[in-house]
Amino acid sequence: MAVVEDILKFNEQFVNNKGYEPYLANVLPKKKLGIVTCMDSRLIELLPQALNIKNGDAKVIKTAGAIIRDPYDSVMKSLLVAIYQLTVEEVLIIGHHGCGMDGLHGKTVLENAEKRGVKASTLSKSPEELGHWLSGFESVEESVAQSVDIVRHHPLLPENILVHGLVISPETGKLDVVSLDQQEV
Ligand SMILES: [Zn+2]
Repeated sequence: MAVVEDILKFNEQFVNNKGYEPYLANVLPKKKLGIVTCMDSRLIELLPQALNIKNGDAKVIKTAGAIIRDPYDSVMKSLLVAIYQLTVEEVLIIGHHGCGMDGLHGKTVLENAEKRGVKASTLSKSPEELGHWLSGFESVEESVAQSVDIVRHHPLLPENILVHGLVISPETGKLDVVSLDQQEV
């Protein structure tokens, strides 16, 4: 049985029992905060708990490794929408220790795709391009710093947006600072 079937069953109960009531919140983030972090399943509850983020406090964008490399990708688009349409004034980019993207080579992902019957060699992008696109990073701190740099210097970013880089432990929730934005708001 697919997990979605369990989910749908649970969901009916959740709504009927008004399980949503403690989570009702305004669409605009109360703390005017945008967070870019990893999709790691260990962070689902740990990260908001460790940061004291409640429902309605922040716009959270999740992507593998919290990686931003292309200034015109969907993560950056989400941040710009969060800033211009949703009142976000401060951005946290939060990588984490023990990330699946740490040391990941796109070549490995492509090999796994081939093993599962995907003919990557017949796609319009070259294996080199695909490999580069699918790759992770060698150091989470450097990766976060790179993402912070792309956001801070984005040509569409207004002034007075604070962009900080952090790394979280997926076990203890402890935050390590990569870079704090000191500009005055
Ligand atoms: Zn991760």
